[in-house]
Amino acid sequence: MVEKPDVGELTPPDRTLMGPGPSEVHPRVLRAMSTPLVGHLDPSFVEIMNEVQDLLRYTFRTDNQWTIPVSGTGSASMEAAIGNIVEPGDTMLVPTNGYFGGRMESMAERAGGEVVHVDAPWGEPLDPADVADAFDEHQPDVFGFVHAETSTGALQPNVSELTDVAHEHDALVIADTVTSLGGVELKVDEWGIDAAYSGPQKCLSCPPGASPLTLNDRAMDKVLSREEPARSWYLDLSLLEGYWGDERAYHHTAPITNVYAIREALRLVAEEGIENRWERHLSMAGALKSGVEAMGLEMNAADDYWLPSLNAVRVPDGVTDTDVTGYLLDQYDLEIATGLGDLDGDIFRIGCMGYSARAETVSYLLGALGDALSSQGADVDVEAGLAATAAKLGER
Ligand SMILES: *Cc1c(COP(=O)(O)O)cnc(C)c1O
Repeated sequence: MVEKPDVGELTPPDRTLMGPGPSEVHPRVLRAMSTPLVGHLDPSFVEIMNEVQDLLRYTFRTDNQWTIPVSGTGSASMEAAIGNIVEPGDTMLVPTNGYFGGRMESMAERAGGEVVHVDAPWGEPLDPADVADAFDEHQPDVFGFVHAETSTGALQPNVSELTDVAHEHDALVIADTVTSLGGVELKVDEWGIDAAYSGPQKCLSCPPGASPLTLNDRAMDKVLSREEPARSWYLDLSLLEGYWGDERAYHHTAPITNVYAIREALRLVAEEGIENRWERHLSMAGALKSGVEAMGLEMNAADDYWLPSLNAVRVPDGVTDTDVTGYLLDQYDLEIATGLGDLDGDIFRIGCMGYSARAETVSYLLGALGDALSSQGADVDVEAGLAATAAKLGER
């Protein structure tokens, strides 16, 4: 006998989300998600699809025709990019300076590609000279890099220099923009990025489920002229073209509610203005960073490549990372994360993304983190931290 489970009504805790994603969802996005469903081929939905595509182009700063939300989380969009662009026998150059470069490698291998590396320490960006050397040595067909490395809190500067190197060698560039889209300056066309994928639950402050992807004609030409179909049927862009392109024919049922959600999230981006939004992330995360530094803590990434949307802060002496994150969740209903991979145990990862990038949440975080660290034995100057954050927030 299978017993009937006794499950009560859903009452999730009311958390303040300042980890590496999901970020807090704007109330307007939650409201959009509770509106009635229409069919995925309904004329009204076709109109919504067009609107989402236009809003995505605006946010990515691109004219790419081929700009869609992929059904699934950021990893689905990532696999759609890599699994379609990388053909069996292709060589893909991937970075080793963070966790998500490793995921690129796994996906490229599953696509039948050979993987070669360009190295930089975790927490540092790639040096264009090293990328050039790797191109001379390996002549890769595809080059992937992570614009905003969520595992280390490092931003990749000089993107145009990297794409120039790749294009001099006739390679295509795939950018991971999961933690930069809608939060950190990103200009897909101007910077020469051939394909970029992202996720909704980071700087767009939308629940996970429909993930931005854009490819230029060069990238799409390679995808459409593959000798062998992509290994994933679900993520095959030549098939998805039938639904998101002019035809609007059934491929799989779009996650209607998630498309509503990303439409509203992107509408909020357009209302605010993309440049203003980048500026807000800089100023809110700047207040956060000033506060933790004034408290006596150290950022993991150097100032030159500090990533506003994900602040990686070194764990101070005297405390254990998981005790601190546990305390914040229990006492403050506040989520931040610990380190991943090479930085496990060494850093806290504090997101400042989308709707979470507000004065209220930043001030709340500073006070809560100061309490957690000082009560657990770290030598921190909480008052100095709060004062520095307040001063920065007051300057705006
Ligand atoms: C979160 C993240 C991903 C994966 O996205 P999911 O939505 O978790 O599948 C990929 N790359 C980076 C840089 C990320 O931060």
